[in-house]
Amino acid sequence: MNQTTLSPEPVRPVETERDEPATPVSISVTPAGHAAIDGAAAPDLAPIMRLQGVSFYYGAFRAVKDISIDVPTHRITALIGPSGCGKSTLLRTMNRMNDLITGTRVEGTITYHGEDLYASYVDPVEVRRRIGMVFQKPNPFPKSIYDNVAFGPRLTGFKGDLDGLVESSLQRAALWNEVKDKLKQSGLSLSGGQQQRLCIARAIATEPEVILMDEPCSALDPRATLQIEELMADIKERYTIVIVTHNMQQAARASDRTVFLNMADDRAGYVVEQDETITIFTNPANRLTEDYVSGRFG
Ligand code: ADP
Repeated sequence: MNQTTLSPEPVRPVETERDEPATPVSISVTPAGHAAIDGAAAPDLAPIMRLQGVSFYYGAFRAVKDISIDVPTHRITALIGPSGCGKSTLLRTMNRMNDLITGTRVEGTITYHGEDLYASYVDPVEVRRRIGMVFQKPNPFPKSIYDNVAFGPRLTGFKGDLDGLVESSLQRAALWNEVKDKLKQSGLSLSGGQQQRLCIARAIATEPEVILMDEPCSALDPRATLQIEELMADIKERYTIVIVTHNMQQAARASDRTVFLNMADDRAGYVVEQDETITIFTNPANRLTEDYVSGRFG
């Protein structure tokens, strides 16, 4: 079985302080996007990702501090908290999207299948293929529906049945029936909700394991919002989802686990409480959580 996970070449750990010899974990990714770890009798239900003592800096400004959370596999984790507490920043550390912003820095450790996501031998492009992202505002490319979905696979040199992959991705994103007769039309001709499902299909087409969603419904009407939430519930058997949302009802309805962040006096976001969603919303341990989820601040 292939030992390579996130690097384009076979993994050759470089001797640096960060690159502590990771326990070798052999991961095979099936076409369905599932990962099976050697030796595990059942599908892997250990956290797919672990953040330990993570802080993130924009220049000298620390936007989040000392964040330790586990991201459970095949479940939906919601990040909630007042505006500016660092939810999006934290989400972007999970697929190294922040690397694209100059002057930024991560402290702490983020592991994915036990492997340091920030190790020097890890290819950030491969990270973003395996850990996809859907943004707040639907952002289809000014290309046909087909080409939007085919974009990622083409970029990574996909050699298989592209038509089949486009169809299955659109089906998983619950959009196929609405677009199957107009695949050559521009993605921009679709409604907002359809565009967001197209963006989800585009993310799915690269066969990720994790999908990060940054307020994916904030530009959508209630009906389209519910469609996305239903879609999330349908696809979590295949994917692990982390969603940033400012919508309390959405977190309560759509997620299994909730992480509540707040802003400290130095404006850095920190985790107040994390637990099963039902506990966070009905019986939180922390008074701040209770005040936030009941709308008393934020
Ligand atoms: P949230 O998603 O909870 O609203 P953000 O992660 O967007 O919070 O922002 C957290 C903090 O980081 C804010 O103080 C914000 O101004 C700052 N921030 C976000 N993006 C950048 C950036 N590209 N450069 C500098 N500061 C940023």
